[in-house]
Amino acid sequence: MIPLIVCGASGRMGRMLIQAVTETPGVRLVAAIERPGTPELGRDAGALVGLPALDVALSDDLGAALQRAAGGCIIDFTAPAATEAAAALCARAGVGMVVGTTGLGDSAKAALQRAAEAVPVLVAANFSLGVNVLLGLAEQAARLLEGFDMEVVEIHHGKKRDAPSGTALRLAEALADGRGQKLSEAAVYARQGDVGPRTPGEIGVMALRGGDVVGEHTAFLFGPGERVELTHRATSRTTFAHGAVRAGRWLAGKPAGRYDMRDVLGLAGDAGRLAGPAR
Ligand code: NAD
Repeated sequence: MIPLIVCGASGRMGRMLIQAVTETPGVRLVAAIERPGTPELGRDAGALVGLPALDVALSDDLGAALQRAAGGCIIDFTAPAATEAAAALCARAGVGMVVGTTGLGDSAKAALQRAAEAVPVLVAANFSLGVNVLLGLAEQAARLLEGFDMEVVEIHHGKKRDAPSGTALRLAEALADGRGQKLSEAAVYARQGDVGPRTPGEIGVMALRGGDVVGEHTAFLFGPGERVELTHRATSRTTFAHGAVRAGRWLAGKPAGRYDMRDVLGLAGDAGRLAGPAR
């Protein structure tokens, strides 16, 4: 049984992850981590999600928990500062990392890159099969629809902290890749006031927030007299949780390095084919 640790255990995703671990063959929950001061510390992880006791009490000591996870992984859905701290601990303990936390800054990204020299690290802005297929389709559409204006719109629940979502950024990157552009040079994240006409080649990435929307992403490709919209709608977080646990089971025992969700889903070849030959 592959040992897994859920970090951010009492969060929206953390609770789904605890349940997903119990529903996935071949893995077992060895620790559930929360930040110091969280009221749920000490509570059994099973009881937290309405399941029978799992004999895993919520703890704020990731360092100690990692001693029980040799050969396994942490599954981190927390916040960028927590992910950064976990990267150093995992590298030292030799435990792999599946990271779903979004909004990572340069310093957290650098910490994950350093960790990947010692342990396997998989970072994904989205763990669903549908979104990973969408990325390949968007890249192909951008490649084929020459001269079309491209924009990305995402919608999430009102409690989401980062904007635009990590998935929206990946989607915009897929569009930019398809057209041979760099997203950093093409992206426009806000329009207000007298912004003037749209620049050819720019890629707008806009975020809407409200209600309990789990996550919706659309890539728009506007041409003369027509437009294409590629949309993914997540209706339940369980799809992300099961994808992340599946990623943890897949990643355990892999050599140190960076991995992608498309490797786990067996889409690496398909995505390449969808995206067509490199230009
Ligand atoms: P949330 O706020 O409900 O949960 C985050 C949890 O992390 C909280 O319980 C918080 O107390 C905990 N936390 C914060 N600092 C911590 C620390 N130092 N140690 C341990 N726990 C700590 O948020 P959420 O909706 O569950 O999302 C969490 C993250 O996952 C966000 O960045 C979100 O964007 C991302 N997310 C990614 C995907 C994906 O498929 N990649 C899907 C959904 C959410």
